[in-house]
Amino acid sequence: MTARSTSHNDPASCTLVRILGESVRPGEHRTLDLQVAKLYTRTSVEIPVVVHRGPQEGPVLLVLAGVHGDEVNGIDTVRRILADIAERPLERGTLVAIPILNVFGFLAMKRELPDGRDLNRFFPGAANGSLASRLAHALVTEVLPAVDVVIDLHSGADQRHNHPHLRFTEGDEGSWDIAQVFDPPLVLRAPIREKSLRAHLNHQGKRYVLFEGGKARSLDEDAVREAYRGVARVMEHLGLWSGPSDPTRGTSILTGSKWVRAPLAGLFHPVMENGSKVDKGMVLGLVSDPYGEAVRQVRAPFPGHIICVNTAPVVNQGDALFHLGIS
Ligand SMILES: [Zn+2]
Repeated sequence: MTARSTSHNDPASCTLVRILGESVRPGEHRTLDLQVAKLYTRTSVEIPVVVHRGPQEGPVLLVLAGVHGDEVNGIDTVRRILADIAERPLERGTLVAIPILNVFGFLAMKRELPDGRDLNRFFPGAANGSLASRLAHALVTEVLPAVDVVIDLHSGADQRHNHPHLRFTEGDEGSWDIAQVFDPPLVLRAPIREKSLRAHLNHQGKRYVLFEGGKARSLDEDAVREAYRGVARVMEHLGLWSGPSDPTRGTSILTGSKWVRAPLAGLFHPVMENGSKVDKGMVLGLVSDPYGEAVRQVRAPFPGHIICVNTAPVVNQGDALFHLGIS
């Protein structure tokens, strides 16, 4: 078998999609449970993994949300896809949907696990490691081997509003193909971040894109609609759903990104809208002291696109204000 595992091309597993030790047959719909650990109340925590398999052979797509427990836009996107399957059953291939991976964080509306660890820094994990490491390991060993393509849905952290965009690992042509099919307004080519899910799947030779849209603990209709459109286009491209797809709009590629920071502490007034294309030197926002004496302009240090804006009304010197993608 080559590095890129394609279960549907492997004659030995032609009619076998195995997830969490269970076989899912053509035309079958199963909800399986990923079990990692109990709460201190002795309550078992089960993480539902929804599997829809079409009647015909095809690729296996994992749509994943809630790696960070407070990023609800992705959760709502997966919900909408699953709700639509009743009306629009799969033609071929398999959809594996995990609306909430970090159930522990979701219960507390927190990004991290209860021990404060960020799940996305613990891949591929270990069976006897921390809770984050165990959860990563369970996904890696029990779900990912069956999967060909992964779409991972995220939002900005606290008070960071992300303009809808997709991230993929630079040099990964297969993932770039999926990003083009997804057709978001902007695509950011990102370097590998070791121990992330993206790094793990890159090492495995599997196609992976990460969607960013909106911010944590907030439902953003634009971000959810954009994510839904992209996931649906990928499902149509892979043959899971029959077309026709939404017409392609074309995407702008960003070769890197940098944060523009607050020159002083004070009240923050963004001037440019999130998602705007900006020239070098353009005024992005203003920071003013509360006494009406000082106002400082925050200017773009290079031409690019704004992909994230800090929504805090008051900022400290050095706080990240605008995330600027390099065009
Ligand atoms: Zn996230």
